[in-house]
Amino acid sequence: QLSLGERIAGALGGAVETRAVRAVQDVSLQLARGEVLGLVGESGCGKSTLGRMIAGILPPTTGSVTIDGAPVMSGGRHPRKRTTRVQMIFQDPYASLDPRMRIGDALAEGPVAHRLSARADAAAYVAAWLRKVGLDPDAAQRYPHQFSGGQRQRIAIARALAMRPDVLVCDEPVASLDVSIQAQVLNLFLELRRALSLTMVFISHHLGVVRHVSDRVAIMYLGGIVEIGPAASIYDDPQHPYTRALLASVPQLALQGDVVATFTPIAGELPSPLAPPPGCPFHQRCPLAEPRCRDQVPEMRPVGPQHAAACHVLQPG
Ligand code: SF4
Ligand code: MG
Repeated sequence: QLSLGERIAGALGGAVETRAVRAVQDVSLQLARGEVLGLVGESGCGKSTLGRMIAGILPPTTGSVTIDGAPVMSGGRHPRKRTTRVQMIFQDPYASLDPRMRIGDALAEGPVAHRLSARADAAAYVAAWLRKVGLDPDAAQRYPHQFSGGQRQRIAIARALAMRPDVLVCDEPVASLDVSIQAQVLNLFLELRRALSLTMVFISHHLGVVRHVSDRVAIMYLGGIVEIGPAASIYDDPQHPYTRALLASVPQLALQGDVVATFTPIAGELPSPLAPPPGCPFHQRCPLAEPRCRDQVPEMRPVGPQHAAACHVLQPG
């Protein structure tokens, strides 16, 4: 079980102002082993920051992330070294692969250092992981630039999984790929999660992308989760006005690669995280906003089985 403590706040230095931005605040999440959680929101909502905190790359200023009770990295001034139990996959696989290193060496490095494979067996260990992600084991002899974007993402996935993580955090893993390749890589995630019972946090700005890989989906807005529930409830019975707007705003990407164009942009601009609005963070853009939304922060409340949302106008249950 992966748990995020009661109050997680990630402080990031603002690029323009010196004041720190609370990129993520008051997030509380639990993830069961074998579960895939989709984390969705517009760019700047804090989903990457939350992903990095889950992976132990970025320490929270307060709060904690634990796996089976053990901290991934504790908050405070002296965070511990990050765990290898969480591995992360990024949007740009090229940036995370050393261009001068053969794929085989890049994939063997971590598992040998952490005794998941003996050095003598490393080539066979790497070959097995390359096969699992649909690549020819000959790929081990080559360098990152000799592969396409989709192949490089497969390599990044193999390298992360070869560390036998308890949790895999994927931050926009298909966003930089062509639509047809996106579908192939999403299908690979589906196959791998079935074969390996992966526990994953799957981050995307695109609701259509996480639909088929996620058991549950959490919707983020301005650093907080505004709705969370089983994927079927989020897609078929969304409750929060922001989730509804988000669903109406994106072309739906089917796994087969069909794109159904239904584009209705969400009214208004995303407020600056440097000056978050008082009350409900969505009130300036919300078609249902009431006077109390301007000064009262809505709490997360149950709106259905395992389904919760933070909105004043929703009826509990
Ligand atoms: Fe809209 Fe008010 Fe609900 Fe916020 S609390 S989403 S402003 S109705
Ligand atoms: Mg991001």
